[in-house]
Amino acid sequence: MHCPFCSAEETKVVDSRLVAEGDQVRRRRECLECHERFTTFETAELLLPRVIKQNGQREPFNEDKLRAGIQRAVEKRPVSTERVESAVSQIKHALQATGERELPALAIGELVMEQLREMDQVAYVRFASVYRRFEDVSDFSEEIERLTSKPVVKE
Ligand SMILES: [Zn+2]
Repeated sequence: MHCPFCSAEETKVVDSRLVAEGDQVRRRRECLECHERFTTFETAELLLPRVIKQNGQREPFNEDKLRAGIQRAVEKRPVSTERVESAVSQIKHALQATGERELPALAIGELVMEQLREMDQVAYVRFASVYRRFEDVSDFSEEIERLTSKPVVKE
């Protein structure tokens, strides 16, 4: 990186150490031109993409909203809080792994559905029915049909 004092391009690292419980690297650098010293901090950037809503508006990713959506779907279903939390973190991980700055809300919905499909079929259909806004009842019953042809979950 450029020297903040003289903008020279060549700087050398004179000291390097882990800080913030290993999440950050602190580096002391020295400019090879003006010999000023300065400090840089390096962290892995794992930003969550902003969400593009159906109406085109952007909003920051909201973990609480994601969790609330999943909890609503699994209400009164035999799904543990730990399982919901693991779904939330897997979805966040998948979103970070895309490296995208913005993602349509529907793409997040698809990730939620993937998680719910493994978790609980009733919760899955509940969520899918709201999320996909099935065009008509036949779409909805097709989905249920598809699910019931798989091993049935005990009520
Ligand atoms: Zn310099």
